[in-house]
Amino acid sequence: MGSDELQVLLSAYGLDLPRAAVATDADAAVRIASTFPGKAVLKVIADSAVHKSDVGGVVLGVEGEQEVREGFAQVTGAVADAEGAIVQEFVEGGHEVLVGVTSDPNFGPLIVFGLGGVFVELIGDVAFRIHPLTNLDAREMIAQVKSSKLLEGYRGGEPGDVAAVEDALLRVSALVEDFPEIREMDMNPIKVARPGEGLSVVDARIRIEPVERSWVPDPGLRAAAPTRGEMPE
Ligand code: ADP
Ligand code: MG
Repeated sequence: MGSDELQVLLSAYGLDLPRAAVATDADAAVRIASTFPGKAVLKVIADSAVHKSDVGGVVLGVEGEQEVREGFAQVTGAVADAEGAIVQEFVEGGHEVLVGVTSDPNFGPLIVFGLGGVFVELIGDVAFRIHPLTNLDAREMIAQVKSSKLLEGYRGGEPGDVAAVEDALLRVSALVEDFPEIREMDMNPIKVARPGEGLSVVDARIRIEPVERSWVPDPGLRAAAPTRGEMPE
């Protein structure tokens, strides 16, 4: 799924994303960046670049024509198969969290939450819940993750919009409900602003697989179900 389609899909479910567009040359990158009120971010688009920053495919906080041109050359020069770059608004500050979806062969979709970066990778501080989530599940997931204390403003640190994170977890659950084709999803990171100021999904990927949709109830099940007259007292 292309970044444009993903942007439309996530926005349709009320998940906020920074403004972004695809540039295939430096002129286009400059044009796009000039429409942003603040700084921009450039990210390489290439099949080989799954983890874009690992290969030098992300440049953050560029401002002005010169920096955008240099950044575009840098990220597209990082890999041999670069098709262009995403020019995205730079989101200042905030906490980084991740929200994802994985598929368990027995339980079906699982929703994942953690704080971005080292907390997840280094110490595995994440919470999983079976889809669908209730608002209580969402709250518990966040509370279960130890590093969430940082989101609440640990030791004088800036607090984040925890309510917006709860809301995002529920929106992801709704999305998975409507599209069982979503086998995996990874929003990492989501930048969480101060309380009341929401969040912004700055990186997302999704893996979809066709599924057989049976809107009609299974005829076997219908035959086995008691009819109205036979309902037990
Ligand atoms: P990847 O995960 O493929 O390396 P990301 O898009 O996640 O690439 O970018 C790498 C890191 O750069 C993110 O984890 C985040 O810290 C930072 N970043 C990415 N996009 C933005 C943005 N729009 N504003 C601010 N920081 C960003
Ligand atoms: Mg990322």
